[in-house]
Amino acid sequence: MKANYHTHTARCHHAIGKDEDYVKSAIAAGFDELGFSDHTPWRYDSDFVSHMRMRLDKFQDYKQSVLALKEKYRNQISVKLGLEVEYFPQYMGWLRDFLKQEQVDYIIFGNHYYLSDEKRVYFGTACVDEHYLELYCEQCIEGMESGLYSYLCHPELFMRACPRFDERCEAIAYRICEAAKRLDIPLEYNLAGAAYNEINHVYEYPHPRFWEIAREVGNTAIIGSDAHHYEDLRNPYYWDKAQHYLDEVLQIKRIECLECNGF
Ligand SMILES: [Zn+2]
Ligand SMILES: [Zn+2]
Repeated sequence: MKANYHTHTARCHHAIGKDEDYVKSAIAAGFDELGFSDHTPWRYDSDFVSHMRMRLDKFQDYKQSVLALKEKYRNQISVKLGLEVEYFPQYMGWLRDFLKQEQVDYIIFGNHYYLSDEKRVYFGTACVDEHYLELYCEQCIEGMESGLYSYLCHPELFMRACPRFDERCEAIAYRICEAAKRLDIPLEYNLAGAAYNEINHVYEYPHPRFWEIAREVGNTAIIGSDAHHYEDLRNPYYWDKAQHYLDEVLQIKRIECLECNGF
């Protein structure tokens, strides 16, 4: 079983290509299941407009497109309707109703922003400050405890901001891994990050030390393409490398298929 549940579309303003191209690429690469998980829209209390997620009025187009592809390619691949979703406490009531009403199959937890992106605190830069490192950790755990998310995306996102994996990073990595273990939530080995690391000769996410801790704690891992271009799915290089690292080097239990049972 080869499945990817982390796939964006052009609606988030930073991904490229037609939805159908992603499905065709996934079929060509031998995937059995493809979940679309574009950045979820929110109904904000303010007139804030996010430039990294689809607008709420684009959701119906997203849903109809994914459902049409699911039907069109049903003999070749299983297509799922998902979203990559933050944990914004003040909006979670709205979100729960929305997921149920729109019959979303699953969501994955992308913890990018503190409280709401209206505040513009991106953990990928803010975590250089110890205070936000702590808040990132707390929000990760609180979000996982909500029981809504199928897995935690790029759990070591804080490494975008931290120059090295120091003792503070160690401490919050253990807390995140232990919470994920307790709640039986897989951690994502993110391939967009793996490509970024390799091209730029850095270790942001995925970070080898984080994954050693995950193995030690006894977590489960899941590979997520985090595809922002349909060619990302067709290129086997990062997928095969990740699979080798997780299965052969780390020998961590890897989840290949999610149950997407809706809300
Ligand atoms: Zn993300
Ligand atoms: Zn993503």
